[in-house]
Order: sequence, then C-alpha cells, then structure tokens
Amino acid sequence: MSVQLPNDPARDDVLAGRPALWLNPNLKANGIADPSLPIRSTQVKEAEENWQMLAPLLESCFPELRASKGRIQSKLIEAEDLRGALGYGTSQYGRVFVKADGDLPVAGSIKARGGVYEVFMHAKKMAERRGILTPGADITVLAGDQARALFNQHTIAVGSTGNLGLSVGIAARALGFRAVVHMSSDAKQWKVDRLTRLGVDVVQHKADYTTAVEHARISAEADPTIYFVDDERSQVLFFGYSAAATELAAQLKDQGVTIDEDHPLFIYLPCGIGGAPGGAAYGLKAIFGDAAHAFFVEPVQSPSALVHMMSGSNNLVSVYDVGLTNRTEADGMAVARMSEFVANVMKPMLSGVFTVDDDDLFRWLWKAQIVQKMRLEPSATAGFGGPEFIVNSVQGRAYQKAHGLSNKLAQATHVIWTTGGAFVPEEQFKEFMARGASLIK
Ligand SMILES: *Cc1c(COP(=O)(O)O)cnc(C)c1O
Repeated sequence: MSVQLPNDPARDDVLAGRPALWLNPNLKANGIADPSLPIRSTQVKEAEENWQMLAPLLESCFPELRASKGRIQSKLIEAEDLRGALGYGTSQYGRVFVKADGDLPVAGSIKARGGVYEVFMHAKKMAERRGILTPGADITVLAGDQARALFNQHTIAVGSTGNLGLSVGIAARALGFRAVVHMSSDAKQWKVDRLTRLGVDVVQHKADYTTAVEHARISAEADPTIYFVDDERSQVLFFGYSAAATELAAQLKDQGVTIDEDHPLFIYLPCGIGGAPGGAAYGLKAIFGDAAHAFFVEPVQSPSALVHMMSGSNNLVSVYDVGLTNRTEADGMAVARMSEFVANVMKPMLSGVFTVDDDDLFRWLWKAQIVQKMRLEPSATAGFGGPEFIVNSVQGRAYQKAHGLSNKLAQATHVIWTTGGAFVPEEQFKEFMARGASLIK
C-alpha cells in the first residue's frame, strides 16, 4: 500500500526522514471530555487504586520494592546541569525536569507500569475465579503455593521489541506463570538472554514488531491456557501507564510547580505503538486539562503515530506506506504501525509529534551520563529534543501563538520522559557511550 499524506508544513521533512514537528490539527479544547472517546477519565483513578491494592503483593514478589512499599515509581529530577548541556540554559525554557522511568524498578523501563500491571491484574482475576482470592482476603495469597500451582498451568504471551517482553516475562515468572515472548528482529540480545535465564520461552522472529505481535496473538487464540497481553489493543496496559500521571502530579507539587493556564506544562513522551506515552498523556490531560501539552516523539524512520495521525485516515497507515524504513537503533520505538485504540483516544488531545534522528539519541545518551549520571538506552533519550522544538522552531512558534503561550514560556515547565536503561549491561552501555562521544567530538 502506498499512501499520500495531506498537505502539512511538516510533511516534506517527515517523508525525507528529517527531524520535524507536526502539530495535531484535531486537538480540541477539553479534548479529554470528548463524548466519542471509548474510555472515561475516572478510569485513571481506578488504575491508581488498583496499583495501591496490588502494592503488598508486588512488595512480596520483588524485594527491591520494599523501600517504596510495593509501588513502582521513578524520580522527577530537575535537570539543572543537564539543561545547560542541552542548550536549554536560558530563562525562556522555564523549568526543565526529567521523569526518570529509565530507572524504574522491576523492569528497568516504562514498561514496568504497563506489563507488570496487566500480568498482576490478570493473576488477581484468575485467583478470584478459582476461589483462591476471596473478598476481603489478603492479596499476598497470590504469592502463595496454591496460587502458584494454578498459575504454573497457565501461560502469558506477548509480542515485543524487547522491553514489554522483559516486563511481562519478569512479572509472569515472579508469580509462577509460564511465559512466551515473541521478539521482533529489533530486540537486543541481552534482553533475550535475560528472559531466557528467567525461564521464559523466547521466540525470535526475523520480522518486525507487528509480525511478532501477530504470532503471539495467533498462538494464544489456539490455546485457552494462554493469556495474550495485547500491546495493540489492551486498555489494561494503557491504564496501568496512566497512573504515572498521578505520581508526576504529586511530584510537581512537591517541587513547588504550579500548572495552570498561565503556567503551561509541556510533556515529551517517546512513542512506539503508543500505549505507554498515550496512557501517561491521557492521565496528565485528566489531571491538568488544557494546561498540559502532550507531545510524542519518534525516530525519523519510525514515526508511526505521526504518519497515521497526520494522514487523517480511518485505516491504520504504517511508516512503510509512506516510504520510510522503520530502521532505528531505538528498539523501544521501532514500531511501523501504531495502536488504533491509542490513535483514536489521542486524536482530540495530543498536541503533536516530533521526530529525532538516531545520532542525536546517542549524543543525548552521552550527555545525560556525563552531566547527570543517568543510564539511558537510545529510545529513552528522544524527549530531550522537545524544548528546542517548542521554544525555537517555526512550528513550535506557531503552536505557541495558536494557544496564547508566546509570553508564558518563562513560566512553563518541561518534563522530558526518559523511558528505559537501568538494565542495559555494562558492555553494551560502553558501546552506546563510545558512539555518543564520537558524535560529539
Ligand atoms: C516501549 C518503549 C517506548 C514506547 O512505548 P509504546 O507503548 O510502545 O509506545 C519508549 N521507550 C522505551 C524505552 C520503551 O521501551
């Protein structure tokens, strides 16, 4: 299929694989309340309550969660030194923070918020159905022998470019489930090895992410003992991610940050299929409404959300359909076709999508380590390009003007969401750093 993209100021750059900022023409005031949306914003609060309910169980499964009482949380770091190194030192950039999901416990990436949540919610439902978890009982019975014996007869399957597989595999094995992870060709070998050591059955495909997901889906359809975590459609995943917004809102408050009409919040979220950034963006729009401006970021050759949403088509448009390759070192974002569910939800509330090239990912990875001692994987650094696009680019200025933001930039807050990296082995990280250093000098 070949698709013609409509006339748009960003189109030529996107098609040529050059970094660009696309502004969503369908963004609406109070878009979160759009009656056509298939979900409701009260579900964010429900997800937060579910996380709270699961906390004692998570704490008993993962000793690293003892300090946080079973909550999987990351820090919000004000990037005082890093902002200068990135060129964001002046007052027109307001305050610049990093939401450090690259350090998330349990799975080492933002996928800890989605994959772990869906596996644990599935386990809870199964235990309730079998009478192992009765109303009012202690949730930690799910870590007991009876539950384990039950889970051991069931399998959790997922398709992944790496990190979702890690998160689902780790969560499934922690409860005693069997797990099958269908990996796309982008998956890094160390992620495969780590899962194999945990007893996860890893199927490596010589094809892209969409194909890996398809295989996982088909295998699950044929066998009732297999539960499929559907990254393309799952609302459970989406709302697991959405609870991150509640966490961020509390952290901003602790930092003395006000978010309102005169103090805008800009959020930059690395996007693959769209679930993780979509969930977080949705949660933030539910809390801050139009004062939150959510942008996705994608590699120049894998802008699946950008091309689909720009196309305006009702049928999913992939990056291949417009002549791009889906080739990138950013495995967490190497997705050619976004989630249709996320596309529909984001339509009235996403501010836009920008793209970055791989060399910049490695430059930022290097700077974040040298200046701020952050350990990131390439996908995780993409958001660092955000403030420049919003404050300084032609399209960014158009956005400021359209939303009355031009004289409010000094009062703005930028949150760059870094999404993975804690588990990257030393050897691999050294290679990333060497590539970053070679591009800077
Ligand atoms: C998965 C992932 C993303 C994107 O999340 P999607 O839900 O696929 O959009 C971004 N960064 C990293 C490091 C990831 O693992």
